[in-house]
Amino acid sequence: PSNRFDVVVLGAGAAGMMCAIEAGKRGRSVLVVDHASAPGEKIRISGGGRCNFTNLNTQPANFLSQNPSFCISALRRYRARDFVALVDAHGIAYHEKAAGQLFCDGSATQIIQLLTGEMRRHKVELRLDTAVSGVERSGDGFAVALRRSQRRREGEAAPEAAEIASGGSLVVATGGKSIPKMGATGFGYQLAQQFGLAVVEPRPALVPLTLDPPSLERLRPAVGVAVEAAARLGRTQFEDGMLFTHRGLSGPAILQISSYWREGDDLTLSLAPGVDILAELKAARAANGRQAPQTALAALLPKRLAQLITEAVPGPVRLADWPDAQLRRLEAAVNRWTLKPAGSEGYRTAEVTLGGVDSRGLDSRTMAATGVAGLYFIGEVVDVTGWLGGYNFQWAWSSGWCAGQAV
Ligand code: FAD
Repeated sequence: PSNRFDVVVLGAGAAGMMCAIEAGKRGRSVLVVDHASAPGEKIRISGGGRCNFTNLNTQPANFLSQNPSFCISALRRYRARDFVALVDAHGIAYHEKAAGQLFCDGSATQIIQLLTGEMRRHKVELRLDTAVSGVERSGDGFAVALRRSQRRREGEAAPEAAEIASGGSLVVATGGKSIPKMGATGFGYQLAQQFGLAVVEPRPALVPLTLDPPSLERLRPAVGVAVEAAARLGRTQFEDGMLFTHRGLSGPAILQISSYWREGDDLTLSLAPGVDILAELKAARAANGRQAPQTALAALLPKRLAQLITEAVPGPVRLADWPDAQLRRLEAAVNRWTLKPAGSEGYRTAEVTLGGVDSRGLDSRTMAATGVAGLYFIGEVVDVTGWLGGYNFQWAWSSGWCAGQAV
């Protein structure tokens, strides 16, 4: 087979496959390479195996970036409903879970099949088990050194020597650093730097937060307890599920706020958001003053949390003997609980990577590097990071689609 292509795409993830399909539709010859043995591995495990493939309410405000307006153009050019139309055309059934979040009824592999099917239809060549060992400028385009990457199965031929593929355009869609076990690398950032682009410091995001040993010890009785909570940092707040784990705090509310949290920041939690705890406790005191405060709290919170909180705010045995001022302390412990996470669980469990290729070096309409003709960055490798809820895939589709129109 020829090794000359109009377009070489690095990474057969959500963004790379979308870009390849669109370039193929335009008659470009396209090669997609990936060092993994299967395309779209993150799609496969996403959304608990059902892939939250977009969010109908996608807005630029749902993304974090050093350059917040960068994502506007791509999100407008290829919208959530455009991807939904593609899903419909493939007869894939889906449902809306929380507001705007669309999941497959069946399995995330249907989305992978959609993408690989479209790639075949548009004559895109996909080479798996293929690592990129280097990239160089060559004439008007790029020379990409490829190597077989995976362990060979029994009886398979020895790895070929490195071969060179050339592409008029090079699209970097190698994703972020999250889940290294699944093949995530920092390769895209290295390439960006090689070609003189700046990289905004990557860090794990949408990730559980950890607590220091004394806090873990104190909260041990709560391990496994889930509540609807609000997690707040400055003016940013997310209300959603929260889970106490043996390492710290997890659940969607925590994952969301983790993208905004920095080492040393205090987090404020409300364990019963929207509930007027003081009024509820006063009413309980009036109705039955002989009950213990934890009994009254247990009507508003999971029992084990009610227990923990009343232990942290000691007082008389009977609720009747609690003055208002002391009830206010209980209220604060429930709805204005301030704590300092020790860290995060890191890339091992982070759903995405914050930071990445600085979008100030990219064209927001095409994803092209402004200083290097023919070079593109799309998807998670770019410094655009979505909230939890299907936004990250929408960014992959939108940015991939835009590059696919331009290569
Ligand atoms: P990726 O999908 O990561 O693809 C990058 C590809 O590049 C990979 O196939 C990788 O093998 C390949 N690659 C990397 N380095 C090299 C190299 N040096 N040479 C060759 N190939 C290379 N987002 C949502 O919107 N909804 C969800 O439901 C959701 N659930 C998630 C669940 C989990 C557990 C995780 C980890 C993430 C989830 N995300 C979800 C986030 C979403 O998966 C990513 O944002 C998205 O996959 C990014 O797409 P991408 O194409 O940019 O990168």
